[in-house]
Amino acid sequence: GKYTTIEHVKEAAQKENVRFLRLMFTDILGRLKNVEVPISQIDKVLDNKMMFDGSSIEGFVRIEESDMYLYPDVSTFIIFPWESEKGKVARLICDVYNPEGQPFDGDPRGNLKRVLKEMTDLGFTGFNIGPEPEFFLFKLDENGRPTDQLNDNGGYFDFAPTDLGENCRRDIVLELESLGFEVEASHHECAPGQHEIDFKYANAIEACDNIQTFELVVRTIARKHGLHATFMPKPLYGIAGSGMHINMSLFNEEGNVFYDENGVDGLSETAYHFLGGLLKHARGYTAICNPIVNSYKRLVPGYEAPVYVAWSGKNRSPLVRVPSSRGMSTRLELRSVDPTANPYLAMAVLLQAGLDGIKNQITPPAAVDRNIYVMTEEEREAAEITDLPSTLHNAIKAMRKDEMVKEALGSHIYNNFVEAKKMEWSAFRQQVSEWEREQYLEMY
Ligand code: ADP
Ligand code: MG
Ligand code: MG
Ligand code: MG
Ligand code: MG
Repeated sequence: GKYTTIEHVKEAAQKENVRFLRLMFTDILGRLKNVEVPISQIDKVLDNKMMFDGSSIEGFVRIEESDMYLYPDVSTFIIFPWESEKGKVARLICDVYNPEGQPFDGDPRGNLKRVLKEMTDLGFTGFNIGPEPEFFLFKLDENGRPTDQLNDNGGYFDFAPTDLGENCRRDIVLELESLGFEVEASHHECAPGQHEIDFKYANAIEACDNIQTFELVVRTIARKHGLHATFMPKPLYGIAGSGMHINMSLFNEEGNVFYDENGVDGLSETAYHFLGGLLKHARGYTAICNPIVNSYKRLVPGYEAPVYVAWSGKNRSPLVRVPSSRGMSTRLELRSVDPTANPYLAMAVLLQAGLDGIKNQITPPAAVDRNIYVMTEEEREAAEITDLPSTLHNAIKAMRKDEMVKEALGSHIYNNFVEAKKMEWSAFRQQVSEWEREQYLEMY
């Protein structure tokens, strides 16, 4: 059950003999950060008095303004079942506030709440997110370090004996369920060693908290099976990469706003406008949804990952797909996102893009129901199909041309993100790869 009050949390912590509280928040680059305190500090914690040094977190603050406060969200209280040897550990996900008692501009979770406020001002009650994270399981070596050896040779929906990761995945699912996740499906993916676990959609904040918790659980349980789980988008050349499709819908008091039984294909005007916004800003938000150098090794033709900006209700390859379910399950599925995206930032830009579509009544281009990959460049141009940025460098350039992204992130996050990504690109482009030596060393 969900905790709703400070009293509930205190009672549960005492009853379950919780010894440590792990306070969690996410930095701009999407990494989960922890501050662990003994249970004796619980009153201070729940009274929003826990301070930490913000300057020690990359992209957070300058040294001279380093005191930050953690405001725990009691509804996120969870007692972890797996660390009971030294006493139980519970976690609370927190928002970050400055010493003046204002939400800190550099906090991705707080920033998403700001964009969600804009949504509620427009009369909607919820932005629902159903993520489909994929990951690979690699073997560990005798020193416990990850190797490049995959755990099995299975394929899509395969089962034992090829799927040796099955026991591990099953343990992950059980663990997730014990933490309150409603797991809808889990299966082996296309590539060897690759898996997907789908859990039920939730409102944007909860869905992002779930994604962060999910990654932690997957890594922890994989280790117990002597495996390394990675969410790196394209760990190996020549096989499919890992994405995290994002299913989204807007609700109001009456239900799913995207559904209209009298609309074209059962979709409402609002759904089409949201889609229009998603497509219009697709190049602009790619850097947020695909934030690392390696993300772009996945966004190439031939592996079911999207490369072009287009949508379809019929085929599975475009950037945005409209799954066939209607009623409460009416949704848009964005297929470019990968699991290295900071979920709070990704949902902020996607929501802002969709709301832009709604506010400005942006009509999406016609659906593309044929295979875009066999179209010629001229045919694509005639159908007004652009392509996604092909590198992190191009994605940052596209992002800087789109004011919407800055609006969705606020200038603090935006500037720090751009700065960090420019450095990442610059470090990468100075490297000389094995591929280059193989191609050129003897030829020139
Ligand atoms: P796919 O057919 O793309 O593999 P999955 O069945 O793996 O899709 O995942 C579908 C996801 O969409 C699930 O996380 C599910 O909870 C979610 N979903 C269902 N209805 C909605 C909705 N109205 N809004 C957002 N997400 C939804
Ligand atoms: Mg799926
Ligand atoms: Mg999949
Ligand atoms: Mg999908
Ligand atoms: Mg992540």
